[in-house]
Amino acid sequence: MALVARVSTRRVFSRHLHSPFPSPLTAHAFIPLPSLTSPCLPARNRAVTACLSSSAPAVIDAQTAGRWKPMCLYHTQGKCTKMDDALHLAKFNHDFMVDLKASTRSLNKLRPQNLDYLLVLDLEGRVEILEFPVLMIDAKNMDFIDSFHRFVRPAVMSEQRINEYIEGKYGKLGVDRVWHDTAIPFKDVLHEFELWMKKHHLWVKEQGGLLNRAAFVTCGNWDLKTKIPEQCKVSKIKTPSYFMEWINLKDIYLNFYKRRATGMMTMLRELEIPLLGSHHLGIDDTKNIARVLQRMLADGVILQITAKRSSSVPGDVKFLFTNRIR
Ligand SMILES: [Zn+2]
Repeated sequence: MALVARVSTRRVFSRHLHSPFPSPLTAHAFIPLPSLTSPCLPARNRAVTACLSSSAPAVIDAQTAGRWKPMCLYHTQGKCTKMDDALHLAKFNHDFMVDLKASTRSLNKLRPQNLDYLLVLDLEGRVEILEFPVLMIDAKNMDFIDSFHRFVRPAVMSEQRINEYIEGKYGKLGVDRVWHDTAIPFKDVLHEFELWMKKHHLWVKEQGGLLNRAAFVTCGNWDLKTKIPEQCKVSKIKTPSYFMEWINLKDIYLNFYKRRATGMMTMLRELEIPLLGSHHLGIDDTKNIARVLQRMLADGVILQITAKRSSSVPGDVKFLFTNRIR
């Protein structure tokens, strides 16, 4: 979770109506601009529900075509049943490439990397993890390869507490319905994530150990240092071996640009990358962090592991950069 002050839906709304970046962007053509005229973000998956039940005429608003669209959060989890519904497809994005397309023009400063793949991860949920979104980026050419996204059902909370928690967290983003429709326990999320990693030859359960020429990229240390071990404890499982090291993009940013960034919003602002989607919706934050990562790769950064957990002493994390965000 990016450590940035929470903004109200109204402010997220107005951010899209009044872009903080009125001037033309710099030469990095891989960053598409969001729609600056249509505040279509809140209540996005309520609209999915509406599509399922309404008798709206199957006429696509011509103005909708070509505009930035929010992701279909059923699709990101492999659960969209409306792929043949033109109205639904016109309202919701079903392709991460739309927002993560790397332009060939931005490849000339790319440096060889020691890693083949980068797994951008940005967890949501303070009390327990509520969302587990991962975007897989090719380190050689910045291409988006695949995604893994699940909403996560807390392990030890009462139904009433879960309902209040989800209303407070996702209700204002208009995605509480899709959360309730799709959330599964953390244990099951990790099982599905391990199958997904196996498919991409990133990690094999039988072999254990670290990721294969890949690393998690997070905005801060909280996700992998603190929250994953905490949730594993609550869910009564051992912290998996693939969570033993990671790249904190804020430390890389500090050492590369020689500027401190306290969070995702600062990095986006400083690099003049417009925010896409809803801040604090994990899959959107992950996408925005991936766009910061793409820009840094395009600017010539070399990525390295910034933190390692000691396998013998749980909770003991070694930070590998002297110059780092504390
Ligand atoms: Zn869909």
